[in-house]
Amino acid sequence: MGYSRRWQNDPHGVGFSRRARQIMSTFIPIGILHSQSGPMAIEEQPLVDAALLAVDTINDRGGVLGREVRPVIADGASDDATFATEAQKLIRDHGVCALFGCWTSSSRKAVLPVVEREDSLLWYPVQYEGLEQSRNIVYTGSCMNQQIAPAVEWALSMGRRRIAFVGSDYVFPRTANKLVASMLAATDARLVYESYHPLTCRDFTSILPSLRASRPDLIINTINGIGNISLLEQLQSVPELAKPDLVCSLSCTENLFSRLSKGAEGQLACWGYFASADSRTDMDFVSRFRSEKDQIPSDPTATAYSQILLWASIASRIESIVPADVRANLAGSAVESPLGRLEIQDNQHVLRSALIGRNNGQGQFDILWQSDGPIPPLPWFGVTETELPYKELIFQVLSDLPEDITIQARLESEIATRQEMAVAMAKNQSRLEETEKIARIGAFERNLKTGEGYWSDMLFQLLGHAPGAFIPSLEALESHFVEEDRADFHQTFYASLIDGKGLDHQWRIQRADGAIRYVQIHSAILRDNEGNIDRYHGTVMDITERALAEEALRLSEREMRLLAETDGLTGIFNRRKFLELTTREIERSKRYPSPFTLIMFDVDRFKAINDTYGHNVGDLVLQNIVECTRQLIRDVDILGRIGGEEFALALPQTDLDGAGVLAERIRSAVEECETITHDTKLSCTISLGVAELKGCAEDVDSILKAADLALYRAKNTGRNRVEFMVGSDLDVACTLDPAT
Ligand code: GH3
Ligand code: MG
Ligand code: MG
Repeated sequence: MGYSRRWQNDPHGVGFSRRARQIMSTFIPIGILHSQSGPMAIEEQPLVDAALLAVDTINDRGGVLGREVRPVIADGASDDATFATEAQKLIRDHGVCALFGCWTSSSRKAVLPVVEREDSLLWYPVQYEGLEQSRNIVYTGSCMNQQIAPAVEWALSMGRRRIAFVGSDYVFPRTANKLVASMLAATDARLVYESYHPLTCRDFTSILPSLRASRPDLIINTINGIGNISLLEQLQSVPELAKPDLVCSLSCTENLFSRLSKGAEGQLACWGYFASADSRTDMDFVSRFRSEKDQIPSDPTATAYSQILLWASIASRIESIVPADVRANLAGSAVESPLGRLEIQDNQHVLRSALIGRNNGQGQFDILWQSDGPIPPLPWFGVTETELPYKELIFQVLSDLPEDITIQARLESEIATRQEMAVAMAKNQSRLEETEKIARIGAFERNLKTGEGYWSDMLFQLLGHAPGAFIPSLEALESHFVEEDRADFHQTFYASLIDGKGLDHQWRIQRADGAIRYVQIHSAILRDNEGNIDRYHGTVMDITERALAEEALRLSEREMRLLAETDGLTGIFNRRKFLELTTREIERSKRYPSPFTLIMFDVDRFKAINDTYGHNVGDLVLQNIVECTRQLIRDVDILGRIGGEEFALALPQTDLDGAGVLAERIRSAVEECETITHDTKLSCTISLGVAELKGCAEDVDSILKAADLALYRAKNTGRNRVEFMVGSDLDVACTLDPAT
């Protein structure tokens, strides 16, 4: 946006809407537009209070044109776009005839096209960088030649030579710094440090080391808003930067200085107004602002207050509140104000004095220096006041400067963001490596096209090698597998490459030091843009502890199951498991008709063995009998201990004859088997009963009963013999109450 275009911008508004005219017939609405939220609120809210105090003052004196001035307050929310939309609303919806507001230059630049389009008038009360001149804005704050330039000249005259610059990241601080740099270029002083920070910045600790290292003898602070408190307090943590008279602030008001928890005394500030120097002016403002608004007066608040008085005096004098009329009468208008005589110049800026103050620690500033009277505003650094041959061109170039600076700032912040991201990514990378170490995960990657391979340090370490000990390859990985797992890994891995699905499997490896470790290998296959497999990558995780724990768990599960299903003394099935398995076999034999028999046997006169040799020997005898029996039976046969010294043997696919032969063999084997202890040698016999699945002996209970009856007969007929189930046994078995 060029300088001349703004001046040529013709108003196309047709004055006020009907609604606005109706509103104005009863009172005069004016807009007050400042940030009441966000980082600028702390500085801008007092400007609202000052404006309201001015409105009260005007209304106390009878208003304007005999009508009450009524303020409409809008919140710019520290956001430029919000400033623009709120300005638009104030003018269009509320019919305000003047706007008083903005603090940052960027918010003013956002409102500028709105007031130009609507041909309204914005009164802007804060010091700024210049290089702007809209006929729809009245600039009542200081230009750079009225604040920064005198401050720097004063510092140079005081012998300061190493100037540092810390500012908020927008056009005013950056332009101000350019001015300072150009001023220093003509002297033996120099700029030793500069940094810019977002308005939201609260943590300046990262700049402290380099700022300290630059050994500044003056820090020009152009931080705006609440960040000032953070900066000034954090500077106190470094002795070299905590010295009094080191920092000169250009955008920090008494309001903020009063909130400093430490280091307020000795702070320098440069403003066009300090309440302590307010001898020449309206003491009414200072006392009323303090008592009614509980606020400490400052340059911006005094200006926000004064500019409304100025507007009111012009409107009253010309008897019009129409912005175009007011605008036409701006030049030369003046009012007595807290700032002294506030007089608008042709360029819609005002005459202002400059003062350097030193904070006395009690909220007030002692004046160290002040200009010889008001300084004329030079928003174009004096170019307008000279007769240069290419003045217009210089205007054009200068007017583009703020925009260039803004773009540069945006680029720099973009670069900074990217650098931060790069640092964050590097941090993530090292965090990832840390995580790999903790989780004992190694990573590998291979490009199948180029053959390039990568192993993370952790993978080398998992395999027992120093990182990078050899060139990574699949063969090298394979060579670490234990013999039994190597072929399986090889096949599984190549199959995963062919089907492209990757793998997730557990194997055992042998580390360089010989230790066997369990690893979980996870790998994924990657494809190029054409969908061809071109890379694989994956992880190797040491899961030895987990695998061993799982193994132990599996073992104890098996133990528990064994305990639940077997007899502790003999190791054969207990009664419950025997019944369960036999029931299953009987069902099967019935489904696929096949013979099924069952032998029951009981130790003969076992009580006597216990009584003679003791219970322990009795136990050994029982174990021996079981051992003898086991050697004669098949895997499919089911042997169980169903009572103290009673056993049952279920024989699938075995008929009565076959069972009889087996029973006889068992009887004879037991008879021949000797139980030998340290002092005795003994043998015993058993009696056996054999029954078959037949007729109503069709379930485990009835066939057991039938076998038991046969066994009973064997006992009764001399013991150490085999008896078979007979018809009468069946009859008894069949009358068996299933509940018994
Ligand atoms: P029979 O020939 O009539 O079967 O005579 P028996 O003495 O074997 O008869 P009985 O049923 O009266 O005695 C069984 C004995 O077996 C009683 C019991 O103390 C003993 N017994 C049961 N379980 C065990 C065991 O686990 N270990 C030992 N040592 N003895 C047991
Ligand atoms: Mg017995
Ligand atoms: Mg018995």
